[in-house]
Amino acid sequence: MQDSNTESSTVAKLDTPKDAWRQLLSTEGCRVVVDEGTEPAFSSSLNTETRVGTFLCAACFLPLFESTSKFDSGTGWPSFYSAIEGHVETKRDFKLVLPRTEYHCVRCGGHQGHVFSDGPEPTGQRYCNNGVALRFVQDSETLPELRDGGVSVERDS
Ligand SMILES: [Zn+2]
Repeated sequence: MQDSNTESSTVAKLDTPKDAWRQLLSTEGCRVVVDEGTEPAFSSSLNTETRVGTFLCAACFLPLFESTSKFDSGTGWPSFYSAIEGHVETKRDFKLVLPRTEYHCVRCGGHQGHVFSDGPEPTGQRYCNNGVALRFVQDSETLPELRDGGVSVERDS
């Protein structure tokens, strides 16, 4: 059984098959985003990313976190105290004996990480995210267009 929480989301969900994303992700990206794995702690350069910008879903490019909510949790994974409202949804994860709350991109369903209630103010939440599941775009750069995982969506001019 899984609890879903989508009440606040206005993002249209894609029905792209999970496997279609494999062609757009690295091997480690597939293991995390598609197969709900966890990258090794301190393996992502985004762990120490401190520039101003936006963190996107590595699969479909939906913005998930703003750099203003990022904090150093000391865990070795990029951590945020809040997600962009309505852009992630949660489900209970019973892979370990103690249930954790898994969250994923609301648009493509790609796994991002787990959320815990030991985060800092103002929310008290800690979104513990796999860096390989994110793409960072600095404020000075243009956000890439959303992609749907299908073929020939993006075209180079
Ligand atoms: Zn996504």
